Amino acid sequence: MPNVIRVTQSSIPNLEEYVDEIKSIFGSKWLTNMGEKHQELEKQLMKYLGINYVSLVVNGHMALELSLQAFDFPEGGEVITTPFTFISTTHAVVRNNLTPVFCDIDPDTYCIDANKIEKLVTDKTVAIMPVHVYGNICDVEKIAEIAKKYNLKVIYDAAHAFGEKIKLGDGKERGVATFGDVSCFSFHATKVFNTIEGGAVCSNDETIYKKLYNLKNFGIRDAEYIEAVGANAKMNEFSAAMGLVNLRHLPDEIAKRKNVHERYLKKLSNIDGLKLNYIGSGLTSNYGYFPVLFDEEKLGLNRDEIDGTLQEHDIYARKYFYPLTNDAQVYKGRFSSVSTPIAVKISGQVLALPIYADLALDDVDRICDVILSEINRKGKK
Ligand SMILES: *Cc1c(COP(=O)(O)O)cnc(C)c1O
Repeated sequence: MPNVIRVTQSSIPNLEEYVDEIKSIFGSKWLTNMGEKHQELEKQLMKYLGINYVSLVVNGHMALELSLQAFDFPEGGEVITTPFTFISTTHAVVRNNLTPVFCDIDPDTYCIDANKIEKLVTDKTVAIMPVHVYGNICDVEKIAEIAKKYNLKVIYDAAHAFGEKIKLGDGKERGVATFGDVSCFSFHATKVFNTIEGGAVCSNDETIYKKLYNLKNFGIRDAEYIEAVGANAKMNEFSAAMGLVNLRHLPDEIAKRKNVHERYLKKLSNIDGLKLNYIGSGLTSNYGYFPVLFDEEKLGLNRDEIDGTLQEHDIYARKYFYPLTNDAQVYKGRFSSVSTPIAVKISGQVLALPIYADLALDDVDRICDVILSEINRKGKK
């Protein structure tokens, strides 16, 4: 019986190493509220990401939501964003009483099309919230230019891009956390780097760091002075400890993901009708995802059929991202995907194939063989 293959599997450390890391928590009995592990992880992440301030939070969603809140935008302000993302990005805007304005995406990187942002700017626009989709980096230079011209904040949803670096036009390499006013990460169990649940807001601005410190703790400045309508979004010590241990092994995990990525390329390249994961030049990828577009016109069969066949073989890929967030049930009648046709097309073709550090290369072969034989069996050619 072949084993079940899921789209992802969490990176998990050696048990003894984790137990060792949490021993001091049992001594201190300090379980949450910015304890020793929390402080240590923030410090290590600042170094790893090359950024002055890292504010740990309970998950990536709250990183987005509290970042938006931290800027005190006027109610009803417009945020230019992408529909080709996890629903969290759009919810974060709406839950802040702001209005998402959907911009179409680039057909290669699947990130927001920076050339289409400017015509969406109105006098109500307050921010741009782009997403580094599948770890592809947005056109950060163009976005910075637009933001400067119209005095907008840029809040990156960098949930897919942890630890990546990119060489820009000037040839200098920069960490992904350094773009925009803030960059938000998710450390959810399914991400390249995890703290079980968790996230962080990165910036070079101490004011933002201090605001977030309060916002994630009920807006409490000190016991008798509550300065904001805060939430409870603190990362606990056991999660921070998980992060400290996982961070040590991250380079190995990424190297193993890279092997999986390369195996897919070897097996699936040069097939008319398949478009494989794009990695832009100058990018040091974290190999978080392996999305493939299936072109029905060329293949004679569509993404859903491939997905169904994989499932018959106990292989669970994911239609990621489908539906678009502007087509989500909850937003029917409120938003629409009419103005984002490229996102509609890609969302209808994309299937994220399984990728994780411990995915055996034999299993990658098995996945590819199922896809290839289905194309040969049913396809037109
Ligand atoms: C995972 C993810 C989030 C949400 O992060 P959580 O830690 O699950 O709350 C937001 N945006 C994108 C693009 C994500 O992939």
